Amino acid sequence: MRILLMGPPGAGKGTQAEKLTEILNIPHISTGDMFRKAIKDQTDLGKQAKSFMDKGELVPDEVTVGIVKDRIKEEDCKNGFLLDGFPRTVVQANALGKMLEDLGIKLDSVINVEVPYKDLIGRLTGRRICRSCGATYHMIFNPPKGEGVCDKCGGELYQRDDDTEETAKNRLLVYEKQTAPLLEYYNNTGLLVNINGNQLMEEVLAEILKVLGK
Ligand SMILES: [Zn+2]
Repeated sequence: MRILLMGPPGAGKGTQAEKLTEILNIPHISTGDMFRKAIKDQTDLGKQAKSFMDKGELVPDEVTVGIVKDRIKEEDCKNGFLLDGFPRTVVQANALGKMLEDLGIKLDSVINVEVPYKDLIGRLTGRRICRSCGATYHMIFNPPKGEGVCDKCGGELYQRDDDTEETAKNRLLVYEKQTAPLLEYYNNTGLLVNINGNQLMEEVLAEILKVLGK
């Protein structure tokens, strides 16, 4: 089973990726992890990637694609994998398609977890942290019993700067801009499946598994 998992920030993609890879017994291939590993192992591509990152530059597509290819060729990907965070652009999607073709394999499904915009804002801005003990809460998923007060120690709860509505809107805008062409691309190839992410985590998972015929 070779899956590409997509979804905006706040859609709960990370949780679904974790559950799916466990149930389907396939590795979770996220770009971040791959980069860290290639750099740690000091592969040629890892070194190249690091040299760009050290300069604060974007890693060029050919380097990224090479790192993904190395990863997909590893033994544990024989029965499939779940890609997360790659491809990000249509150029990368084309490169991935070609790479898989060279390897004689193809994607089974592109799963897109959808959540309405207003709900994403709520999810992305809901985190609250206790100033005294550091306990974290979420206004939707794990609200404190008293407003603005920590259940554990009575401390004051605050919102981190990167959890504000402005930051959330920005992240969603960047995602939308970057991903819309990619969704269209996979829609045209017939691989795209939209999943309603605005339900319980277990229900989202069940819907994905049903689509995958599992
Ligand atoms: Zn506290």
